[in-house]
Amino acid sequence: MRCPLTIASQRHVLCIFPAYTPSFGTFSHAYWLLGRVRAFMPPQGLLLIAAYLPESWSVRFVDENIAPASADDFRWADVVLVSGMHIQAPQIHDIARRAKAAGKTTVLGGASVSGAPELYPEYDYLHIGEIGDATDRLIACLDNSVAPAPAQTRFETTERLPLPSFPLPAYDLIRLDRYLIGSLQFSSGCPYRCEFCDIPALYGRQPRLKTPEQIIAELDAMLAQPGHPSVVYFVDDNFIGNRKAAREILPHLINWQRKRGYPLQFACEATLNLAKHGEVLLLMREAQFLTVFVGIETPDADALKAMRKEHNATLPMMEAIKTLNRYGLEVTSGIILGLDTDTSDSEGRLKSFIDVSGIPILTINLLQALPRTPLWDRLKRDGRLIADDTGLESNVQFLRPYDEVVDTWRRCIAHAYDPERLFARFAHQVDATYANRMDVPARGKLTVRNLREAVLLGFNIVLWIGLLSNYRRPFWRAAWRALSRGQIDAVLGMGLVAYHLIRFSREALRGEQNASFYSARGRAAVAYTPEGVPALGNQP
Ligand code: SF4
Repeated sequence: MRCPLTIASQRHVLCIFPAYTPSFGTFSHAYWLLGRVRAFMPPQGLLLIAAYLPESWSVRFVDENIAPASADDFRWADVVLVSGMHIQAPQIHDIARRAKAAGKTTVLGGASVSGAPELYPEYDYLHIGEIGDATDRLIACLDNSVAPAPAQTRFETTERLPLPSFPLPAYDLIRLDRYLIGSLQFSSGCPYRCEFCDIPALYGRQPRLKTPEQIIAELDAMLAQPGHPSVVYFVDDNFIGNRKAAREILPHLINWQRKRGYPLQFACEATLNLAKHGEVLLLMREAQFLTVFVGIETPDADALKAMRKEHNATLPMMEAIKTLNRYGLEVTSGIILGLDTDTSDSEGRLKSFIDVSGIPILTINLLQALPRTPLWDRLKRDGRLIADDTGLESNVQFLRPYDEVVDTWRRCIAHAYDPERLFARFAHQVDATYANRMDVPARGKLTVRNLREAVLLGFNIVLWIGLLSNYRRPFWRAAWRALSRGQIDAVLGMGLVAYHLIRFSREALRGEQNASFYSARGRAAVAYTPEGVPALGNQP
């Protein structure tokens, strides 16, 4: 649904999504191999708000991961609406600076301001919490006037818009072919309470759900766009947060795939206890879920208990990973270093976990305390929160010496993304995972555009990785193994991903990238001039 208010004024709203700082998980170094791609994933939250705005208002949508908002965009706008996460904080500040320079009223919503509104004193209006009654009050206020308020005004959601009333995200305002993968939200909230995570505080512990009809309509809308990405990521914090709901939506996805000739593949985030639910895994395999991101965090069961993530240890970890692989699901994993439970043995255990698990993609980060988490409260009580402007990689005062923690991170990255080891893990996936995926008709994917893109990607991978890179030997070992089993898709996928991971890890080891997503040191803002020209030059 759109905003139900009766609107009196005509407004021009410029929605801007801030650029991300490059990381292991955005694959930004590999976009050019595909030709069309400029950014990782469409921003669901801001597309949702854009779709909810009154129909009579004109909306422009700029994702600065693709291109910066131009001087003309700012001139056109009555109001500039921004949404972002903590990792985008410098870019959020930079957008406010440019909007103010253009004399525009600014509004900020999204996860970062909802967790820490005090970080953004320069915005005229803050939208705190999810879409809901605050959104209606904000729209009523802007309908009344777009002049900046004399003092900052906050609108805080007390009544959330039920997910079944969410409008179709405004896909008509963006070009999906510019994105590496598509995104889709089925649920919001997570029942667990991991110490470092802000999801339960921000989105609640009772997962709320969209209807199957909404999901199908969103998939159809994506499919209607020429050149849409072939992978869609369920951005839900935990796809099995409500297991019954996951079981119920999956047959709808399977039917949709069958009817449309299997045009898409899916990925999601879930807790490792997904491995206990064979019936869900069976349906996920049939629906074409190929990848699951699991916040494994640490292979150490005591550390999981300390961070209240015991649910990841309800099965022996390696057994759980093997189970997911048996259903054709490649696991990607989040890992945290700098935990209070880390010892001098943790590094060895993590390296051995990386080798034995055969997980190709791991995002290894330093612990960061986010506002509105139990971790933040505990560290604050203990006087262990470090100010953001210290130039350090984390805001946590680790129990182990800082340099030792960062050096451990460096050695673990070097270990994980050494090309020999990385391609050995991909080679392992060929038999352990890719061979277990369901064979589906190629009808839905056989478009001229897809074929052209596959040829371009194949050409670039053979040339730049297979012939010219200094890791061509391990690449071909894994690639031949996949090719001998007819897994051409897997060769393209592993080439694309490995290209980014190897290049990014080499940059990180040279100190050009940061050890934490959230690192204030690494979050060099992509600052733009009013004409939309990058001022610092690190636009991905
Ligand atoms: S399971 Fe994941 S989303 Fe849920 S609280 Fe833990 S870290 Fe957060």
